Amino acid sequence: MGIAAAADHADCMVTSKPRSDETQARFAVERWVNEGGCDAPSRAPDREAPAPSNGRRAPRPRVLIAGAGVAGLETLLALRALADDRVDVTLLAPELTFVNRSMSASRPFDAPRVRGLRLQDVARDLGARWMPATLDRVEHAQHRVVTSDGDRLGYDRLVLAVGARPAHPWHAPGVLTVGDGRDGRLNGYPVLLHQLRRAQVKRVAFVRPAGATWPSLLYDLALLTAADCAARDLSDVQLSLVTPEPQPLAIFGTTVSDAIRQLMDDRAITLHTGSYGVPRGHGWLDIVPGGGSSVDCVVTQPRLLGPRLRGIPCGGDGFIDTDAHGRVAGVRDVFAAGDATAYAVKQGGLAAQQADAVAETIALSVGVAIDPKPFAPVLRTVLLTGGPPRYLQADISDASEDCIISETALWSPPNKLCARYLAPYLSNAVANGATVMAQREHAGGGRPKHAESHRRRTVDQLSARSAR
Ligand SMILES: Cc1cc2nc3c(=O)[nH]c(=O)nc-3n(C[C@H](O)[C@H](O)[C@H](O)COP(=O)(O)OP(=O)(O)OC[C@H]3O[C@@H](n4cnc5c(N)ncnc54)[C@H](O)[C@@H]3O)c2cc1C
Repeated sequence: MGIAAAADHADCMVTSKPRSDETQARFAVERWVNEGGCDAPSRAPDREAPAPSNGRRAPRPRVLIAGAGVAGLETLLALRALADDRVDVTLLAPELTFVNRSMSASRPFDAPRVRGLRLQDVARDLGARWMPATLDRVEHAQHRVVTSDGDRLGYDRLVLAVGARPAHPWHAPGVLTVGDGRDGRLNGYPVLLHQLRRAQVKRVAFVRPAGATWPSLLYDLALLTAADCAARDLSDVQLSLVTPEPQPLAIFGTTVSDAIRQLMDDRAITLHTGSYGVPRGHGWLDIVPGGGSSVDCVVTQPRLLGPRLRGIPCGGDGFIDTDAHGRVAGVRDVFAAGDATAYAVKQGGLAAQQADAVAETIALSVGVAIDPKPFAPVLRTVLLTGGPPRYLQADISDASEDCIISETALWSPPNKLCARYLAPYLSNAVANGATVMAQREHAGGGRPKHAESHRRRTVDQLSARSAR
């Protein structure tokens, strides 16, 4: 079945009766199962695959992508770009829409509509099958997965892009955990902002938990909140940020950390680095080392745990070990990418880079002439400040100090989520409600001298390095 045919097939599977999306898709899964899609050794013949000598067309390898977040969609887009319709792709995920969560921090401030891309449309657009279901376990000896509904789906290559499991670090009154949902809403933050603006809350501590977590969310929120309070002359608001990192955003390197420290200082945000915050309730936050502080509210973010999928080997924390091409150790034809993997830094841009490495390896395995590049992480994000955003970039693939902070865009499209295939796809889909950098956020503005000089120095360092 070629791309168009697969798309038609996916289309007719879900549009034949006026049922809800979920019900329609459930029928689609059942029909696919009944038609022999599950456990079948091969799919329908490939329209454009070279015919073998007996005159019959070769079946296309079935790629099953579990998870339709950043890594899952990037894998799908990269496979289409690299392997076109040599592969028969199915996208399996429980939710109906993809929401770009990278812009979540700005939502409480400028309140754009939260909308996502319908996965049904994305799959149809890319000639893939879409199945709203949850992977329960992998039976790798049989090359199949079992969904939580009990359906068995066969695969030739399996990509695990199921993300991490967010866990609340503390359950205590006065603690707000943001970013634990898939809908991109920072539940509770608009209310906190309202209370700050009405002077009902004055002391807010942003506390990064120990362990794996997304790097820049609390910095975005602290800086945006400081700018919002400054714009309203709320001079008695006290903001602090407590983090176990030795320096602010230390993963980006010294140059970036120094500039961020300066930025926080300029915004009067008290910074406690190398410190652990522990909310004690009754308006008190322990800060270790250093004592503690009275607070009205603690804002924190989830600690990330591994998916601990049945049938897939994982470490003690549940994350999946892979090699640099995304192959899962000891399990043939199974790959993993994104927050679900054991790679220590969890971030959308890195999830996309891992997905690209996986897609290249799969493309080679289905006959594409390609030299698959291993995952060599380059961290990129946009820090939202309430003024000109800062573009941060650091090569973290080795011990070098290649890092840049800039007020001018360092990549294109200049999205907060930097992904080779997904970012342009989202930008093109803006009319459909995908969120990218708001225009005024990357319009640029005056460039503080210190940021420029850091940038120049590091750009020069990078140029010198690439010239070597
Ligand atoms: C508020 C917030 C702000 C962020 N800001 C940024 C930013 O500015 N820049 C940046 O790069 N990153 C940012 N991130 C991090 C980024 O969103 C994640 O690193 C990225 O989404 C990870 O991609 P992933 O595909 O691995 O996982 P996810 O995007 O979490 O996707 C996982 C997918 O797997 C599905 N799934 C889960 N379990 C199963 C199962 N058993 N079977 C089938 N499907 C399953 C889920 O439903 C989902 O579709 C932010 C995150 C949050 C929450």
